[in-house]
Amino acid sequence: MVQQQLKARGIKDERVLTTMAKVPREEFVPADARVDAYEDGPLPIGYDQTISQPYIVAFMTEQLRLKPSDRLLEIGSGSGYQAAVLAELVADVYTIEIVEPLAKTAEATLQRLGYKNVHLRVGDGYQGWPEEAPFDAIIVTCAPDKVPQPLVDQLKDGGRMVIPVGERFAQQLYLLEKKNGQLKESATLPVRFVPMVRETQKK
Ligand code: SAH
Repeated sequence: MVQQQLKARGIKDERVLTTMAKVPREEFVPADARVDAYEDGPLPIGYDQTISQPYIVAFMTEQLRLKPSDRLLEIGSGSGYQAAVLAELVADVYTIEIVEPLAKTAEATLQRLGYKNVHLRVGDGYQGWPEEAPFDAIIVTCAPDKVPQPLVDQLKDGGRMVIPVGERFAQQLYLLEKKNGQLKESATLPVRFVPMVRETQKK
């Protein structure tokens, strides 16, 4: 996976590559999807949700240029896989998931694998996690139609945010960097994430 899917497509950060080789992706998927855990695509985790393709997980992680002392916010815990990758690279991961049963499963998996620096909460990630803000880095793994202002407010000066923005089938991944209170924005990849659901739209 690391050689064919990640290095071949340009992922260079050695810390990211080492981490992708280390975190057991199969532990984060339902038993019947385990044989496909290292395939080059997204995987179903129930409740119409998926874990991103390994390349996308690595790409987003690399874009954040993480330091071991960073405190990071993730929106969309899903299976907990991306949170585990991040937890290997930073001091603390704060992650928010809106679907309660997914949050429960992710929490159990992370605990079983010994990830003590992941803090998981059920809720609407649009609002961020103000009690723990500001963050050095923010990663959003579901797609809103515009960048949520609370997340911009909770990003430290000098911080980075990676976020897919757009409509259901046409989103663009952005890297946002905050410098002297200004946001620098660059579009990176076309992507397809599940939409960000708001608390009020929950089924
Ligand atoms: N990062 C995950 C994959 C996320 S899939 C992993 O590694 O497995 C996107 C997730 O975002 C889904 O679990 C979905 O339920 C969640 N989500 C959607 N809208 C949300 C919101 N407003 N707040 C928090 N989580 C949300």
